[in-house]
Amino acid sequence: MKNLANCEHCGKLFIKHSQPVCIRCHKATEDLFSKVLRYLDQNNDATLQRVTNETGVAEKRIISFIKAGRIRLAKFPALAYPCESCRSPIRQARLCRTCRTTILDDLEKSEREKQFEQRKTEPGPSVYYTNNRT
Ligand SMILES: [Zn+2]
Ligand SMILES: [Zn+2]
Repeated sequence: MKNLANCEHCGKLFIKHSQPVCIRCHKATEDLFSKVLRYLDQNNDATLQRVTNETGVAEKRIISFIKAGRIRLAKFPALAYPCESCRSPIRQARLCRTCRTTILDDLEKSEREKQFEQRKTEPGPSVYYTNNRT
């Protein structure tokens, strides 16, 4: 019973091998994948919207195929997926360039503030010089 896990899709218990989903869900996903791929083979200029409409496969499923590297965007120039923050179309990573810059800026700012706070509250010097190189 050591490999018993809950399927990430349907939540049912199953014996886990390499897939995080049960056999039924795995097969269903593969069916959707080949459907999408078949459509894209014949329509390599399709947008995500069109693939969703034409195949009936949920947008998030198609996006997960793209993110898993199973659909190579290099072959499909019109295919893009939404930035996880502002939903503008992107073709790589999880965020568009604008959001990535914003988030990095925020991160840097909060890091600086944290350091500042630490310096304020820490008793004594925050930098220790060691001089044991003799
Ligand atoms: Zn399942
Ligand atoms: Zn964005």
